[in-house]
Amino acid sequence: MQIKEAVSSGSMLPVMEAFYTIQGEGSFTGHAAYFIRLGGCDVGCVWCDVKESWEAEKWPVKSIEEIVAEAEQHPGRLVVITGGEPLMYNLDPLTELLKSRGFQTNIETSGAHPFSGKFDWVCFSPKKFKEPHPSIYQVADELKVVIFHKSDFDFAEKHASKVREGCVKLLQPEWSKASTFTEQIVNYVKSNPNWKISLQTHKFMDIP
Ligand code: SF4
Repeated sequence: MQIKEAVSSGSMLPVMEAFYTIQGEGSFTGHAAYFIRLGGCDVGCVWCDVKESWEAEKWPVKSIEEIVAEAEQHPGRLVVITGGEPLMYNLDPLTELLKSRGFQTNIETSGAHPFSGKFDWVCFSPKKFKEPHPSIYQVADELKVVIFHKSDFDFAEKHASKVREGCVKLLQPEWSKASTFTEQIVNYVKSNPNWKISLQTHKFMDIP
């Protein structure tokens, strides 16, 4: 099979980086996790802190067997698939293989592409720069909205009205704006207690 076809089927994927660390944000904050960061993103957030991920062609393409074998080198059995925008790829083969080897599978996605993969936890972080695909709303376990501008509170509510009941709702200050929005976010959550605050604790603790 040619590499292009293998990527399109999901049996090979471009990997920007993969590393074992501590999940710093969202519902799994504090958990040891193996991050698989896939290359490629067409969302274009102005404040993106991994812009180098955008061009998929820059990153080595690896077989899913190789990706999983590398994950197995570490003691933790929680994998977080992120990007870039991981749903640009068919994630069924990778997640099925991970689960067959005993991993919990989590994803962090903007939801901008049709959903694929067998996931135990779906963190949906919508972005204004590209409309989410409708398939994300019924599978999201966590809605995490980055607050970069005051209009992001309305944006958060717009998506909250579409997710399923029980979806955890999180507001997270964008790192460079954290001090600007701290008070507003605190007041918002006190007035709207169906939301919680998520902080990028790995940045406070300087954990890569
Ligand atoms: S979706 Fe994620 S990787 Fe893509 S531009 Fe936005 S923040 Fe960056």
